[in-house]
Amino acid sequence: MANNKRDYYNILGVGPDASGEEIKKAYRKLAFQYHPDRNKDKSAEEKFKEVNEAYEVLSDPQKRSNYDRFGQADVSGMGAGFEDFDFGNFGDIFDAFFGSGGARSSRRRRSAERGPDVHRKIQISFEEAVFGCEKEVDIDRVETCSVCGGTGSEPGTKPMTCPDCGGTGEVRRTQRSLFGVFTSIAPCKRCGGTGQIITNRCTHCDGSGKEKRKRTVTVGIPAGIDNDNTIRVSREGNMGLSGGPAGNLYVTVSVAEHDFLHRDGRDVIYDLPLNFAQAALGDEIQVPTLDGDFTLKVPAGVQSGRIFRIKGRGITYLERQGRGDQLVVIHVVTPTSLDERQRAIFQELSETLEPAEVPQESKGFFDRVKGAFGSRR
Ligand SMILES: [Zn+2]
Ligand SMILES: [Zn+2]
Repeated sequence: MANNKRDYYNILGVGPDASGEEIKKAYRKLAFQYHPDRNKDKSAEEKFKEVNEAYEVLSDPQKRSNYDRFGQADVSGMGAGFEDFDFGNFGDIFDAFFGSGGARSSRRRRSAERGPDVHRKIQISFEEAVFGCEKEVDIDRVETCSVCGGTGSEPGTKPMTCPDCGGTGEVRRTQRSLFGVFTSIAPCKRCGGTGQIITNRCTHCDGSGKEKRKRTVTVGIPAGIDNDNTIRVSREGNMGLSGGPAGNLYVTVSVAEHDFLHRDGRDVIYDLPLNFAQAALGDEIQVPTLDGDFTLKVPAGVQSGRIFRIKGRGITYLERQGRGDQLVVIHVVTPTSLDERQRAIFQELSETLEPAEVPQESKGFFDRVKGAFGSRR
C-alpha cells in the first residue's frame, strides 16, 4: 500500500516546503473532488485513497520528516490499517471532516414539511361570478388529533425518552481513522429521530397524532371570477408534518350559464331580436343588464348584426378597477307566418321598395359577429 515510489507532495500538488496549512488546504480540495460519494468516476476511489495516504503522512510532522529523509514514511502497519478501514463509511467521514451536516448539526430530526393541499370544485351562478359571493365549502382534511393534541400519547401519559439516543433523536458513532477520530451522526433508528417513544398510544388516533375531519370553510369568491378559475385559501389544507405549516385549499369554480346573458371575457353579450317594423322604424327597447333594465334607443333602419355597446355594464376586472361592457347584438327576425291583413300590407310595401342591396352598415358584419361571439360558449 505505502508505495515508496509515490511522491506524496505531487499527489497533493504542493511543494516540498508547503506548510501544514497548505497541505491541509490541498488535501481538502482533492478529497472533495475525489470523494466517491460525489465523484462516480471509477478511478476516483483509488485517487481518493492515494490522496488520503499522502495527507496522512504529510500532515504528521514525524511521518513527514521520515518521508523527507528516507523517501518513505515510517509507516509500519499503516498500510494495513488503511486497508482495514471501512470505506463503506465514506459519507460519515466526509460529513465529519467537512462539517457538511453530521457533526455540526445538533439534531437530525425529521424536518418540518408543509401539509398536502386540498382541492375542491364548486358550482356558482352567473351572477355570483359577476358580483362575487361567499361560499361554504365542505372538505375532508387531516388535522392534529383533537384528543392527544398531536403527541400520539394517551392523555395523562407521557412518552418515554428514547434510551438509545437519550432524546436527541440521533446516534453518534466515534470512529478512529488514520487522519483522526471522527464522529458520525445518524438518525436514531429506535425512535425514528423523534427522541421519544410512545408507551401508551392515544386510542383516538392510534398514536399517529392525526385525525381526519370534516370542515366547512368559508371562501370569498371575488367579483369577476371566470369559469375554471381557482382560488387559493392559505393554510386550510391538511396539517403539516413535524410542525410544518398546513397545506392550502384550492377551490376551482364552475360558472353556470345564464338564460340570456353570455360572457365573453369581461363583456356580456345580449342577443336582441327585432321585427321588421322595429328595425325599419326604430324603437326604444328595455334591455336587461346585470344592473337592471337599460333603455336602448334603436335607430330607424338598423340592420341585423349591428352591435350596441352599453359601457360599464359588463364584468368586473379581477386585476384592476372597472368593468367591461354589455354588447347588444341586433337580430332582425323575418316573420314566418302572416295573416291576411299583414300580407296585404307587405305586398303594398313591396311595390314601393327598391330591390335590396347589402347596406353599408352590414359590411364587415361577419367579422363583427365573429369578434363578438369568438369565445362564447
Ligand atoms: Zn391522538
Ligand atoms: Zn432514539
